[in-house]
Amino acid sequence: MQSHWNDAEALQYPGELGQRVYSSRLLGRDKSLVLHGGGNTSVKICEANILGDAEDILYVKGSGWDLEFIETDGFAPVRMPHLLRLAQLPSLSDPQMVNELRTHMTNASAPTPSVEAILHAILPYKYVDHTHADAVVTLCNTPSGAQRIRDVYGDRVVVIPYVMPGFDLAHLCGDIFPRECTDNTQGMVLMNHGIFSFGATAQESYVRMIELVDLAEVELKARKAWTVNWALAACATHALRFELATLRREIAQTIGAPIILHTVRDAQALGFARRDDVGVIAQQGPATPDHVIRTKRVPLLGRDVAAYAESYKTYFSAQAGADAKTMLDPAPRVILDPEFGLCTVGRSVQDAFIVRDIYRHSIDTVVRATQLERYQALPAQDYFDVEYWDLEQAKLRKAGTPPLFTGEVVLITGAASGIGKACVESFLARGAAVVGLDITANIADVSNKSAYLGLVCDVTDSAALEAALEGAVQQFGGLDMLVLNAGVFPGGCAIAELADAEWTRVLQVNLDANLSLLRLAYPLLKLAPRNGRVVVIGSKNVTAPGPGAAAYSASKAALTQLLRVAALEWAGDGIRLNALHPDAVFDTGIWTDEVVAARAAHYAMSIEQYKRRNLLKTEITSHDVAELAAELCGPLFAKTTGAQIPVDGGDPRVI
Ligand code: ZN
Repeated sequence: MQSHWNDAEALQYPGELGQRVYSSRLLGRDKSLVLHGGGNTSVKICEANILGDAEDILYVKGSGWDLEFIETDGFAPVRMPHLLRLAQLPSLSDPQMVNELRTHMTNASAPTPSVEAILHAILPYKYVDHTHADAVVTLCNTPSGAQRIRDVYGDRVVVIPYVMPGFDLAHLCGDIFPRECTDNTQGMVLMNHGIFSFGATAQESYVRMIELVDLAEVELKARKAWTVNWALAACATHALRFELATLRREIAQTIGAPIILHTVRDAQALGFARRDDVGVIAQQGPATPDHVIRTKRVPLLGRDVAAYAESYKTYFSAQAGADAKTMLDPAPRVILDPEFGLCTVGRSVQDAFIVRDIYRHSIDTVVRATQLERYQALPAQDYFDVEYWDLEQAKLRKAGTPPLFTGEVVLITGAASGIGKACVESFLARGAAVVGLDITANIADVSNKSAYLGLVCDVTDSAALEAALEGAVQQFGGLDMLVLNAGVFPGGCAIAELADAEWTRVLQVNLDANLSLLRLAYPLLKLAPRNGRVVVIGSKNVTAPGPGAAAYSASKAALTQLLRVAALEWAGDGIRLNALHPDAVFDTGIWTDEVVAARAAHYAMSIEQYKRRNLLKTEITSHDVAELAAELCGPLFAKTTGAQIPVDGGDPRVI
């Protein structure tokens, strides 16, 4: 474990709070110390209030902030004297504590102080750092954990037995710490939870954290328990997407909302899920909610998932009141399976990814502890819950009603440009997880959001389509919506000159590929928790064709007819299919400025006139089409299928 303190860098963070920001970020960068909002830091500052009186203030990490990206605004200023008096109380409930913390801040718009604020206050040091270092937690989670901690640290740390984080923990530390602290004390270990360091400067406290955690790592390395070797397990090569989508549907049905199911199948995930002792060692993750383990290939799912989903529901239904105790109910969100590997569940992609990241650290902890001695977690509450709850609570307070497509997955073809790219944005904006397919290599870069997956795919290659669906389901759990957008628009060509090869190429992309994708997507759309939806991006040419576009017009007309038949065939499965017929959308790859200028000149119009040559004299953009495509998948069109809607500003030939 290395110190990353850099004097030149530190100088760019002036003041006592600035230094706090800098070293907090250093801690946050190291994922073996803190993950996703875990850990917290503070600094005690004396400052003048508006009346000119000096006040001792604890600046402590606010809930909802991640140390890695924290700023000065991420620290909540709380009056120290009040915190110290609170620590003397015999008991204080979590909601009472949150109320006291919030009402004794000096900045009304600061975030809610960390639930460990009182604990920070009672430690008599200017800078206090707290992490859940993997190495320290690993040592703790063995039968002789307490002895190991004493052997490694001697009198450099005060050891606090495990208590649930919150007021009781602060109270206990207030008892033990002053009694046991000596001149050699540099930190404090909370058994099965994490470690504190402190110092007179941000640098001293940070460097002590690194040194203390390093001692635990060195101990684990000396006992050959640090390095975990995962033999690359042989993976099943058959498709998993139907089983995964079925699992997702069952969970979603039980909790009454669609969910994201993310699957990891690397050496670590498969290696752990296939261990003979996984049923024993994974029963209590030290850093994760409960989870379901399937050690045998049994038909899905029965009792396990019902119980699993029930507690998941408790978790999410708790958000309204945000009552602390209810929020602490563990939400089982991990499934281990010898074929799937590690699956994590979340209401959103971000939630599922957070659980994945935390669980991967848990796996290391469990296996290292097993290599050291034997893994033994507390039968009590998972240690991370409270601080994670901290983050969750802040998120939920901010969130309000979740976006329309939260927990749902859409696949969009031709997503690298034009209408397809605009659809990516419209669906992401509505909370969907988006899989974008395109033949161009930059498809992965269309969005940098974690809810977006871009895959290079030639839609005329059905094996490539199948692989893309497999990838989409492993990433997000299923398929709820499909936007058939990919298409080619060849230059004008009269029928008399139309070559067979050109005709065939246009029909392959605009028609045949969509048949393949619809056929492949159908079993997945049938499993969509809120029923499958398909949007076809057609063309005005379907109802009002123009000369010179025979192949294009015929392909889009045939595609529309395909959609109408599918609407008849799949209505019994609840799947809705509707088409949009846009016209004159000029902000796409096809229409360069030169082409628009040439066409305008051809009609003896200005560019502006040409772009608005419709009854409403309005310009139609990719965004307009994409927004309507997204809404077609929403509740406004819940009772519409097989419809064709023009997006053309009004055309007398269409009307
Ligand atoms: Zn903690």
